[in-house]
Amino acid sequence: MAQRVQGTEDLYGSYMSAWQHMEDVARELFGSYGFDRVETPAIEQVDTFVHGIGESTDVVRKEMFRVISGATLPGLLEQGSEAHLKARQRMALRPEGTAGLVRAAVEHNFVPQGGAPVKCWYGEAMFRGERPQKGRLRQFHQIGIEVLGAADPAIDAEVIVMLMQYFELLGFPREALALRINSMGDAACRPVYRESVRSFILSHKEEMCADCLERAEVNPLRAFDCKNDHCREVMADAPLAKDNLCDECASHYAQVKAYLDEAGVAYEEDPTLVRGLDYYTRTVFEVDVASAGVGAIGGGGRYDGLMELEGGRPTPGIGFAVGFERIEIALQALGRTLATPVPSCVYVAATPAQRAKVFAVAQALREAGVRTEEDYQARSLKSQFKQADKLNARVCVVLGDDEVAAGMATVRDMATHEQVQVPLDGLAAHVAGLMA
Ligand code: AMP
Repeated sequence: MAQRVQGTEDLYGSYMSAWQHMEDVARELFGSYGFDRVETPAIEQVDTFVHGIGESTDVVRKEMFRVISGATLPGLLEQGSEAHLKARQRMALRPEGTAGLVRAAVEHNFVPQGGAPVKCWYGEAMFRGERPQKGRLRQFHQIGIEVLGAADPAIDAEVIVMLMQYFELLGFPREALALRINSMGDAACRPVYRESVRSFILSHKEEMCADCLERAEVNPLRAFDCKNDHCREVMADAPLAKDNLCDECASHYAQVKAYLDEAGVAYEEDPTLVRGLDYYTRTVFEVDVASAGVGAIGGGGRYDGLMELEGGRPTPGIGFAVGFERIEIALQALGRTLATPVPSCVYVAATPAQRAKVFAVAQALREAGVRTEEDYQARSLKSQFKQADKLNARVCVVLGDDEVAAGMATVRDMATHEQVQVPLDGLAAHVAGLMA
């Protein structure tokens, strides 16, 4: 039997309606903040991710799904390395949305110099070669937003406020959500801070795990995220980003917090929050649902250097992404779901002689905008009514031989069982009125 790839899921039925609901709420809420939807390709050149996400990150080093076309495979196997491939032949499935979107923004000049900031959102599948487990998939779905062209701390606060509103509209009680924020500094102060964390790790060499020693060289800030309890104990004494910010970053961070206070959004400052990707500068944030046990359900931050890394002009940016699958797990832990109820419909039932009439009536109802079902399996009238119940029909239109001969149809309310006779030529309008 054919099976899906481990760590991937099929979206259908109520699970699909859950994903669509997330998109619908995003379109409505983000639209009210002036965000437009965009979609970038699922495959990008590897360099887009290497430049953007950072060579030292787990995502780039271990988790990217590489795409090899059939034409380049034989050469690759023969040479045993990809060194001979041109940049455009080295491709990967996107592990996140920001790098590709920033690449598109540079390529199409989304943010002309002096122009207003660009705000966009996306809802797409992402791919990471992770060990599959609950809430950790190889293909998962994210809804994300990006704002390009604004360094104003008000934007940082606005996107965080919007994120919290989004979670509430998806059904999370505000008190179940834990928002953590931090500032990671910028090109001026972050390298100095990074170096001080590196020195700190190296001065505690004997106490740290081998992974952390490697991190000290490639990405020291990630040592704060080490799963090893002892490393975490040691890192509790490491220098903190907030104590090492330059004046500009400290002032920016203070303003973000003041705006959040003004908006009444509760947050916890977490000086160890560093996030996994290299591109973050200044504000970073993450949201967890403590009771769900699936890790962060969303997070993001500012990335003022990313446009340049992707070959564009210096342009500040900020964004966030939330994960559909983890949100659904977290909601279920709270006894809720994103899934929407099965929509109600009209069922057109008839005797076998009226098959052609069913076809015509169903078409008229659909043209009037009514979700309409009918029988395709020559069932008896009794089992058509059963089927109507299963399909959540609110109204049943019955086309009996005598009624049709008299130019009429019976319209039955499935909840009250009340029936009325309606002329066939006004049927669609009558039923559409009932369903409105
Ligand atoms: P990140 O880009 O890692 O900050 O991810 C943003 C959000 O995407 C996370 O908060 C999760 O909700 C979700 N996410 C990240 N990786 C995975 C994964 N492997 N499986 C499912 N959801 C994920």
